[in-house]
Amino acid sequence: MSLRVDGKRLLRDLAELAEIGRDPGGGLSRTSFTPADAQARAWYAAKCEEAGLTLELDALGNMVAGLPGRHDEPAVWSGSHLDTVPHGGAFDGALGAVAALECVRRLAESGPQLTRPVRAVVFSDEEGNYNHLLGSTAMRRGFSEEELAAMTGRDGDRLVDALDGWPWARGSRTDTRVDPARLHAFAELHIEQGPTLEQQGIRIGVVTSIIGLSGGLVRFHGRADHAGTTPMDARSDALLAAAQFIGAMPGLARASGPASVITTGRVRVQPGGTNQVPELAEVSLDFRDPSRERVAAMLEAIGRSAQEAAAAHGVRAEWHPDEIVDPVPLDEGMRALIADCAADLGLSSIDIASGAGHDSQNMALLTPTAMIFVPSRDGRSHVPVEYTTDEDVVAGADVLLATLRRLADT
Ligand SMILES: [Zn+2]
Repeated sequence: MSLRVDGKRLLRDLAELAEIGRDPGGGLSRTSFTPADAQARAWYAAKCEEAGLTLELDALGNMVAGLPGRHDEPAVWSGSHLDTVPHGGAFDGALGAVAALECVRRLAESGPQLTRPVRAVVFSDEEGNYNHLLGSTAMRRGFSEEELAAMTGRDGDRLVDALDGWPWARGSRTDTRVDPARLHAFAELHIEQGPTLEQQGIRIGVVTSIIGLSGGLVRFHGRADHAGTTPMDARSDALLAAAQFIGAMPGLARASGPASVITTGRVRVQPGGTNQVPELAEVSLDFRDPSRERVAAMLEAIGRSAQEAAAAHGVRAEWHPDEIVDPVPLDEGMRALIADCAADLGLSSIDIASGAGHDSQNMALLTPTAMIFVPSRDGRSHVPVEYTTDEDVVAGADVLLATLRRLADT
């Protein structure tokens, strides 16, 4: 009989975590570096302490939990994120973070030490309130002071201000890179966030690759004027340029390729009065494709489209693209291992590509990496109705545990 997670404890933990950052109208708003995020981290730290685990922090709030000692040995890592999108669900990130913690706890309880240590990690700001995959990118390559100083959140607030006095950070902000020699492998459990597993009646997805993505901000600068006294043809309306630009994005995605997607999820308008011509319109961009070349081509095309829209409305446009997060194939040996562990547990599995971005795509550049998906009801995610059944939560965690154990002992 293979070792299993404590399913009741895991489900209880997920339920407790789902109370933190709960919106009055349902769903969760636990965006990064907010009081709700701090509360979730305090909850996680208390669970670690209860289990006798140590918790290491870096200066951007990444957290790594493990048994004391053996810190110099290459370790098997697993984990995900505790932050959510605004009005998101209780499973995206939370499942992988809590399941990794459960696996480390379970292995600690289950007797003989494995050849390699196993650690549970929580990555900061996976959802990119300040930067796509902030924490894992910081672990992969680190950020300069200038890069960090330029990062702003949804509300226009600066990351460096949010981090000021943030209790869940230690050390130098530019010294967050993880030495690959500390790692043996990384595995992440996550909900699918799409409909494939549920539609096909399959319990476990073995992720083959993760999509490439980028994003950024387009700022249209016009001129604020009186809404009553400024004739229509004398205006420089930043929001009208933004509207033309946003309207052009679906065509641009279609021209890029069948798997290309572009989302303009947020518009900020200043001064924002109902009786003022908009001076500034800032549009957020998120765009993805399985091919790096197409992501790079979309990045260029978005910049051109912004200039065209600006010219058409007599305003000025600035395009501030994020760096491109490369699409990555996941480790073949680990994929076979996951399929094997699922079969041992009597669970069906299929290969599946990830259309969502994950911290695993940064980890894959540091160490052999794999991901395990479990079904999402109706394929819904990043919304309050996001749901995965108790049976699938526990099955996914059991596959993760078996995978980590094999990785740590071979
Ligand atoms: Zn996630």
